[in-house]
Amino acid sequence: MPAFKPPGQCPACGEWVPRNAAACDCCGACASSGWKMDADVYDGLDLPDQEDFDYNEFVEKEFGGGGKEQKRRRFWWWVAVLLALAMAYGLLAPMWH
Ligand SMILES: [Zn+2]
Repeated sequence: MPAFKPPGQCPACGEWVPRNAAACDCCGACASSGWKMDADVYDGLDLPDQEDFDYNEFVEKEFGGGGKEQKRRRFWWWVAVLLALAMAYGLLAPMWH
């Protein structure tokens, strides 16, 4: 992607960036950051980082931690999956004969 040069619409947020502006007034994107939105914006998302993904920590969080409520929800999730599989089998089984 070609480098963005003001004046023009900010590639990060779409606001107009005036000629010779060093950075976008709206989102703070600038040439040195590659006209991308501040990475801080994404901090709110609770996604495991691919690069330093800790499997043990992930398992701990998913299966070890959490209260009874979380475990019960997981149980019903599995019940729902098994029911769906049973229904799919019931629908498909007649075609196999
Ligand atoms: Zn912007």
